[in-house]
Amino acid sequence: VTTLALGVDVGGTKIASGLVDQDGNLVEHSITGLAGRGYAAVEQLALIINDYLARTDVAGIGLAVPGAVRSDTRTVTSAPNLDWNQLPLGEELARKLHIHEHTIHIENDANAAAWAEHRVSSPSTLGSSTVLLTVGTGIGGGLIVGDCLVRGWTGGGGEVGHLPLLPGGRLCECGSRGCWEQYASGRALTRAAQEAGWRDGRDVLSTAAEGDTRAREVVSHVAAHLVHGIRIISALIDPARLLIGGGLGADERFLPFVRKAARDLPATAPRGDVTIETAALGMHAGVIGAALLGRSTPITQRAASGRASTSPGGSDR
Ligand SMILES: [Zn+2]
Repeated sequence: VTTLALGVDVGGTKIASGLVDQDGNLVEHSITGLAGRGYAAVEQLALIINDYLARTDVAGIGLAVPGAVRSDTRTVTSAPNLDWNQLPLGEELARKLHIHEHTIHIENDANAAAWAEHRVSSPSTLGSSTVLLTVGTGIGGGLIVGDCLVRGWTGGGGEVGHLPLLPGGRLCECGSRGCWEQYASGRALTRAAQEAGWRDGRDVLSTAAEGDTRAREVVSHVAAHLVHGIRIISALIDPARLLIGGGLGADERFLPFVRKAARDLPATAPRGDVTIETAALGMHAGVIGAALLGRSTPITQRAASGRASTSPGGSDR
């Protein structure tokens, strides 16, 4: 009996995949460039998964997708980077792979990464709550409250980048105003840097690291906005762990500013003392989380006829 589950993390430009054991160790891993968007991406995914299934018995399949996902119906509501809209991804893949759609778990990528960090990187806090913030171009998030992944009613749970932080604030791509990621993301840092005369976010970070006062002010301002949102989340769920990752979040030149902004709060404020840790699993978190989630839906229902049967209990051996 195999103990390995397959995790696939679909990004905007590449697809990472790998086999993961029951403790969350990645035992095999590969990355392929995304060949196309829309249905071409679905076909490429089927080929990648089929490759694993042809040579290994897997204990489950999980997919992490950059967009809004209904895990219960295995449908991608919207993934703009992939041109996916109301796509019944579980059903499509199952049809191509001749397995039941119920054997494929589909999850939002930030949720999958948060689940991996929660389950693997600190087993001592099982039963507690974890927040993972992915601070890159925007802010992605995954919330686990009391060991439960918060997906919400429509799959939008944990989309913390669009917390409306400032009424009437800066216009966001989502159509709303004043969203958190407009003030505390990589894009926000680049905007602030350019307004102050630097080339981009990276540029102002390295000048700040050298001790330049004006550069430090620019970075501090963005870090303070990040901590502001962190306090809102902390006040809601009081997490045992607050992890930060992503291109900007994991940048060692940025994190000290975030920690300082958190330290500057009075300890009497709600979770003014929140401890901010770096996400441990980095770029592999999506694959590991998807595999761990996929493990709960083992592949036991391979259809005999070469077409997936519509009855979920069909074709048991
Ligand atoms: Zn928004």
